[in-house]
Amino acid sequence: MTAPVSRVPMWLGGEPVAAQTDAWFDVLAPADGTVLAQVPRAGREDVDAAVTVARQGFFTWSGQAPAAREAVLLKAAELMAGEGGARFLDTLIDESGSVIAKARNEIRYSVDLLRTAAGECRRLYGDTFPNDNPERLSMVFREPLGVVGVVSPYNAPLSLLVKMTAFPLAAGNAVVIKPSEETPLTALAFGQLLLDAGLPPQALSVLTGFGGECGAPLSGHPGLDCIALTGSTHTGIAVGKAAMEHMRRCQLELGGKSALLVLADADPEEAAAIAADGIFTHAGQICMANSRIVVEAPVFRDFTAALVRRAEALHLGDLRDENSRYGPLINRAALDKALAQVADAVARGATLLTGGEALHGLTMKPTVVEAPPLDCALWREETFAPVVSVVSAENLDEAIELANDSAYGLSAAVLTHHLQRGLAAARRLRSGAVHIGMHAFQSNALAPIGGLGLSGLGRSGGRYSTEEFTELKWISVEAPA
Ligand code: NAD
Repeated sequence: MTAPVSRVPMWLGGEPVAAQTDAWFDVLAPADGTVLAQVPRAGREDVDAAVTVARQGFFTWSGQAPAAREAVLLKAAELMAGEGGARFLDTLIDESGSVIAKARNEIRYSVDLLRTAAGECRRLYGDTFPNDNPERLSMVFREPLGVVGVVSPYNAPLSLLVKMTAFPLAAGNAVVIKPSEETPLTALAFGQLLLDAGLPPQALSVLTGFGGECGAPLSGHPGLDCIALTGSTHTGIAVGKAAMEHMRRCQLELGGKSALLVLADADPEEAAAIAADGIFTHAGQICMANSRIVVEAPVFRDFTAALVRRAEALHLGDLRDENSRYGPLINRAALDKALAQVADAVARGATLLTGGEALHGLTMKPTVVEAPPLDCALWREETFAPVVSVVSAENLDEAIELANDSAYGLSAAVLTHHLQRGLAAARRLRSGAVHIGMHAFQSNALAPIGGLGLSGLGRSGGRYSTEEFTELKWISVEAPA
């Protein structure tokens, strides 16, 4: 007899609840399709209730002293760094198909984000400015926005959610979270951790549900003051349109098709090791993964051969094996999309150097494709899988032209030992970030993460998040001397 599947309630104003319709859905493990648990299938009526309670939560939370808010976030960091964090490890592995090393990194980075956000609580700086009338004083205050809707993706379900939640909270906002339907258990556990840390219950709701049924009513809700989405560009456009209908703030961290440039002076072996890390980590399910590589002609052959060797040597074992480099893609649709993009590029003349097929279940072989047509989906659209395209460029100008010929602009990287050449390239690359001597997938809790073009709007991290989740107010006083 199989054990009954457990039901995990969602959070409504800090209270554990079912959906108002009492509908539930299964959470599946990508590794083997096991049903891990059931969670509530929230809908529009749950969104209404959460936004209503969040308005109360906003007054409670924003009314607390900065030091009190800081203490809650520091406590959350402490819990995450201790036993509380360890309980995320299994959930991340089972629910998102993370290998253990990536799951640990997410937890470590989440601690860092919580500490960084805690520091922001005391930094809601204002300003003054001179007035031609000496009897008038002008002050600028930085105030929280109110209720922030947070819609998060599946690929880094803990650290991205922590980032999207901790900074708005630091500024005094209440949050209503809608995590990916693929990874709700991580989000529910994070909700518990915030409540354990002392967050006023009404300032927190976590609604589990699907994009159309729950994410869309949330992002279009008239009672929100801001919507923050990390997700695909397709979803970002829908969420952005809904935000504009209410003329409300939106922060959109969307897809990418990041380019890595390998310049002629780079060591091919060293460059291939960096490039492989930048695309194959978490099976390429990373927004900043360097899925396009442009190589200067003199090192093209040696670099490509080394990259293929690296791809073929990757250890793809059990998710809990310390040496495993990546696991399954999140679902069948993600695998089918990646296989179809590769097959299309090859049918149109690209050379498949390695991979191009599933290994087992939803795990895809590391794939390297040489010289895809520059108008094919594999080169132009996000793949979000362990697939990389490599093209050759005659010189730096051509390399930059190829890299910049993209609708996205999230992150880019340049591998060279010539710092000046690297910097010159970095200045010319059209991208929210450029990394020299590293791959394109880099995180830092203080950095302004965000993209150009279809990669999104706004920046998140450190004080840049504080700017996104606060509003400026000018107050002037007639004060005769
Ligand atoms: P997705 O767009 O499918 O889903 C993201 C979230 O949006 C989920 O919670 C989903 O339920 C919700 N959603 C879907 N449709 C919606 C709608 N119409 N209205 C409101 N919400 C809706 O993305 P995903 O597949 O979960 O995540 C992968 C994507 O996220 C990739 O494109 C990746 O590049 C991007 N991403 C970007 C960053 C970044 O920092 N720029 C970081 C991580 C992931």
